[in-house]
Amino acid sequence: MDRTARLKAEVESRRDALIALTQALIRVPTLNPPGRNYREICELLAERLARQGFAVELLRATGTPGDCEDFPRWNLVARREGERPGQCVHFNGHHDVVEVGHGWSRDPFGAELIDGRIYGRGACDMKGGIASAVIAAEAFLATCPDFVGAIEISATADEESGGFGGVAWLAERGYFSPGRVDHVIIPEPLHKDRICLGHRGVWWAEIETKGRIAHGSMPFLGDSAIRHMGAVLAEIEETLYPLLAHKHTAMPVIPEGARRSTLNINSIHGGEAEPEPGSTALPAPCVADRCRIVIDRRFLIEEDLDEVKAEVTRLLDGLKARRPAFDYEIRTLFEVIPSMTERAAPVVRSTAAAIEAVLGREAGYVVSPGTYDQKHIDRIGRLKHCIAYGPGQLELAHQPDEWVGVEDMLDSAKVLTLVLAELLA
Ligand SMILES: [Zn+2]
Repeated sequence: MDRTARLKAEVESRRDALIALTQALIRVPTLNPPGRNYREICELLAERLARQGFAVELLRATGTPGDCEDFPRWNLVARREGERPGQCVHFNGHHDVVEVGHGWSRDPFGAELIDGRIYGRGACDMKGGIASAVIAAEAFLATCPDFVGAIEISATADEESGGFGGVAWLAERGYFSPGRVDHVIIPEPLHKDRICLGHRGVWWAEIETKGRIAHGSMPFLGDSAIRHMGAVLAEIEETLYPLLAHKHTAMPVIPEGARRSTLNINSIHGGEAEPEPGSTALPAPCVADRCRIVIDRRFLIEEDLDEVKAEVTRLLDGLKARRPAFDYEIRTLFEVIPSMTERAAPVVRSTAAAIEAVLGREAGYVVSPGTYDQKHIDRIGRLKHCIAYGPGQLELAHQPDEWVGVEDMLDSAKVLTLVLAELLA
């Protein structure tokens, strides 16, 4: 048997172990918010990897958003050195999951196996991916014990809320720096035959219009911030949306609709606060003295963040010049530059070759419409050789009755083990 066949057979022989590990991970409800059971899931993985000869570190991201004594932000980094120094391949998965939500017909933390699918919150996003990466490493170690370089596996906190207590915190401490790590694969659920090269950029901003409070029966004595915001929204509709619709990208973003610039208005608040649920009180008559919206602008690798911001401030300044008493403030809440790994990068090429060897078809290349932890690895870690590749269907993420397929996980584990062999054996 050649090495490829041996590696595939080693993964295949671990089918039951893969199922059991996925189920064990799902049964630890690592809900974020608030950030439950992070220590428990890190310990579960640390014990298993320590048995495989990994040096394990449990690291608490003290002081990051949400970190407190009740909900500490724990991360696991495990490293297994080879026979001789060489390159390091790192598998990174976030261990947090989003809220359960309504509409489930299965126990969201029961991890039931039904007709080849394991159900549960986090099954595809991304505990199935973490389990596949662990099994891939174990199969590789059994086949190539004399490998060169190092394997790292991390399970990190808070990806669902920005990754600041997880990958960002580790990257700031050098855990994703070139020199320590050469190649990173994040087994997010992008489907077993596709390589995700990166993501679009993000700019979130809060825009506030100003007014003057007065009695609602005499609105002419005040100045309505809501009417001013109405003018902003009209201007966004009439000039900004048509402008964005014409910006197309060469990035292979999925779904197709995200292959251009997009803008969502996440929220709008103006005037008196909403009544508490159940309140029977009537509203008081006032002219709104401020109104706020939050915009979520997703931008392309061909765009410049300063220009993205300038499009909006030009629009607001235009209104200020034409509209009496119009005044505004704008504040950036969050920004991420786009990231896209080159197809010539060794991690991309070896993953593509492994997909072909396992599935018998050519790999697809995609870019994610939203960001994930690659942003921190690129910007803070300054490590450019990073992709997302893992089992599961992205459409099932955050949905009721989320599941991951056992065959998909096995295939992805085979791909990941072949990548280790290509880069380290
Ligand atoms: Zn995810």
